[in-house]
Amino acid sequence: MSDTAMMARRRRLLGPDVRLFYEDPVHLVRGEGAWAWDAAGRRYLAAYNNVAQFGHCHPAVVSPITRQAGLLNTHTRYLHDGILDYVERLVALLPDAITCAAMVCTGSEANDLALRMAQAATGQRGIIATDHTYHGNTAAVSQLSTISPPVGGFAGHIRHVAAPDSYRPLGGSAAFTLAVETACASLIADSHGVSAMILCPLFVNEGFPDLPPCFLDPARVVLRRHGGLLIADEVQPGFGRIGSHFWGHQRAAVVPDIVTMGKPMGNGHPVAALATSDAIMSAFRANFGYFNTFGGNPVSCAAAIAVLDVIEGEGLQAKAAQTGTLLLAGLARLAEKHPMIGDIRGSGLAIGAEIVSDRRANTADAATCLRIVNAMRQGGVLMGSNGIHANVLKIGPPMAFGPAEAALLLDLLDEVLAGL
Ligand code: PMP
Repeated sequence: MSDTAMMARRRRLLGPDVRLFYEDPVHLVRGEGAWAWDAAGRRYLAAYNNVAQFGHCHPAVVSPITRQAGLLNTHTRYLHDGILDYVERLVALLPDAITCAAMVCTGSEANDLALRMAQAATGQRGIIATDHTYHGNTAAVSQLSTISPPVGGFAGHIRHVAAPDSYRPLGGSAAFTLAVETACASLIADSHGVSAMILCPLFVNEGFPDLPPCFLDPARVVLRRHGGLLIADEVQPGFGRIGSHFWGHQRAAVVPDIVTMGKPMGNGHPVAALATSDAIMSAFRANFGYFNTFGGNPVSCAAAIAVLDVIEGEGLQAKAAQTGTLLLAGLARLAEKHPMIGDIRGSGLAIGAEIVSDRRANTADAATCLRIVNAMRQGGVLMGSNGIHANVLKIGPPMAFGPAEAALLLDLLDEVLAGL
């Protein structure tokens, strides 16, 4: 079936506007490591893949999944070692106070549950979120971003604060803290109280601004003074991708009360989780029974355990740091030649370049960014864009990405920028 016929079939069967990457969509049929092949046998370098975190179809993940699927798959209402073995390893990687976890299937579910837990633990309702991110697709969680406002507007207990921007600074940490203080005061004045603030500690979807260490600390103090908990959404930065640290909150030097995670956790297998302290988990469990049919099933746990084994066994966090340094240096060289690169930032394999039409005025150029992404796809390198102004070239390759792949990406990007 041709790609055009396939798109018509999608339209008929899935409804309109189910988004595809690229003007000329890619029909992938096979993947291995940092590479994926389309139906015609063309090979693409995946430079945007934070789901298959260390590369497609890693045998050390595929085989435990296959083995466990052939043995038993069930749910958490039966005793099973898999979930216990996994949670034990997971919480050992998190702040000391975080000692237990609930396993779910998607990042959206993890965040939805985090909001409920924060409300159960504090007895308050109010939630603060940064305005331009995405935390998922449940009814509660879709209230957390201003990108697609819900029908009827935002609920009264939600407050949005502006996400930080290091390229067009909004007043730094002091302004962010003041915004959080104002949001807390407004929630209290409206009798909602403050239950939590949720944020991605590196603001990856918001274009990963380069923030000084401890940027978030004063806001955390304000939040705590008003009784609120901090939820760190690690769906994007978690599991070693950022190179310098295993988690985004470690890099941001902030200790969260609840940590949520998903995407890379099963290297493509759908598994997600929420981790927190015993006190918060107990406050929730005392009031609500929570059961997730597929969350924490033995097959998902086998995948998640294998992911930790591979990250540790293959030294992938250190490799991400090294490859990230090469990519950042290469992007800096390209910025000297190509004035449309206004800023370069990020860490490890979560990096990007801000595309501008006028470097002196920092004028965001989302249209050129999109042209670059599409030209890279035509050249065989898959990458994306994000950020508050949709003009940040997003380079988030799998951790199988090394110096050879980085050089390929940079050479093609040089060619594409020269041809604009
Ligand atoms: N949080 C963040 C920061 C995300 O980027 C996403 C997905 N892009 C989610 C949560 C939702 O995860 P899922 O699609 O697994 O529900």
